[in-house]
Amino acid sequence: MPGFEIFGPEEKQEIADVMENGFIFRYNFDPVRNGRWKAKEMEAMLCEKMGVKYAHLLSSGTAALQTALAAAGIGAGDEVIVPPFTFVASVEAIIMAGAVPVFAEIDETLCLSPEGIEAAITPKTKAVNLVHMCGSMAKLDEIKAICDKHNLVLLEDACQAVGGSYKGQALGSIGHVGCFSFDSVKTITCGEGGAVITNDDTIYQHSHKFTDHGHDHEGNDRGAESHPIMGLNFRISELNAALGLAQLRKLDDIIATQRKNKSLIKAAMSEIEGVTFREIPDPEGDSAGFLTFMLPTEEKTIEINKCLAKEGVDGCFYWYVNNWHYLKNWDHIQNLRSPARLPIHLIEDRPDYTQVNTPKSDDIMSRTISMLIKLSWTEEEIQQRIENIKRAFA
Ligand SMILES: *Cc1c(COP(=O)(O)O)cnc(C)c1O
Repeated sequence: MPGFEIFGPEEKQEIADVMENGFIFRYNFDPVRNGRWKAKEMEAMLCEKMGVKYAHLLSSGTAALQTALAAAGIGAGDEVIVPPFTFVASVEAIIMAGAVPVFAEIDETLCLSPEGIEAAITPKTKAVNLVHMCGSMAKLDEIKAICDKHNLVLLEDACQAVGGSYKGQALGSIGHVGCFSFDSVKTITCGEGGAVITNDDTIYQHSHKFTDHGHDHEGNDRGAESHPIMGLNFRISELNAALGLAQLRKLDDIIATQRKNKSLIKAAMSEIEGVTFREIPDPEGDSAGFLTFMLPTEEKTIEINKCLAKEGVDGCFYWYVNNWHYLKNWDHIQNLRSPARLPIHLIEDRPDYTQVNTPKSDDIMSRTISMLIKLSWTEEEIQQRIENIKRAFA
């Protein structure tokens, strides 16, 4: 998954171009920037690559989620359906918007399931935060149909699936609004950065304004701009955008390398008894940043996870017990711990997040291990890895 593995002269050149010829603020300053617009250039390239009308670059994937929610009109008291297997930002963004996260079950795609979503819908539900976890996608046709039927905003968090697609359409471009992260360990990186993509005029207009204190970005005099809405500062700098631009040019090659590396390991592991793989609704669209497999029981999974470490197979994640990606391990979220009182603390009929019950998700996650697919592996390293994996299962 990590684009940082292949930094080269291309990234340095883009950053140097900003330092030597351009300016580090993404808007205005026309006289000193000599026609350098790295953020705008990356946005145009994202539109083309993702097949959308609009892309707005901003400071992080978390900022993208918060911006997408606000821009789509999700706010105080609205319920947003979210998976228990995700990154904390999915939940934090909803809470900071004044909205109410409602956890629903995942399935073997490791994403929200259509049945899980249906079961969680109430009259207050306004949106589904569909997280395409670990490089691959949810059952988008079924989920889109449910959102359409119930008039819900479909937000696709494609932060971990940049470059993936579903039936030929880029992940992130299928719902009303999509979010990407370009943080330092993602498929491509800006250092810190993210993007909101959409085909919806209103969502785009709200997005670029919301991330820059409501500025309308019309004309070339910042001081004369009007502010149709309030917002915050989630701007990206030109330095970050320059890095991202060089990385985005490498995205197709990154995905091709990941797919090649993953297919070798997956083919070898298919021969191991008891190993099954995560369900991928459109295998051709897998971004292949991870190889995720399941074992028959929790006990076996704990044992294999230890054996993999012992045999030197690095980059394996047993999410069920680690602190990163599962609600069960997030005491601070369960107890809504915050330095200050938040809107959700005033909502008396909010769910009790210490009592969230998702047995289907627990069953799946207790038997699931994900292996990070690296770009920098040599053929020998991949063969060695396959040998080590076989030994771990022996
Ligand atoms: C990384 C990530 C985010 C947040 O992105 P940042 O750029 O680190 O703020 C959100 N959602 C998911 C699923 C992620 O993996």
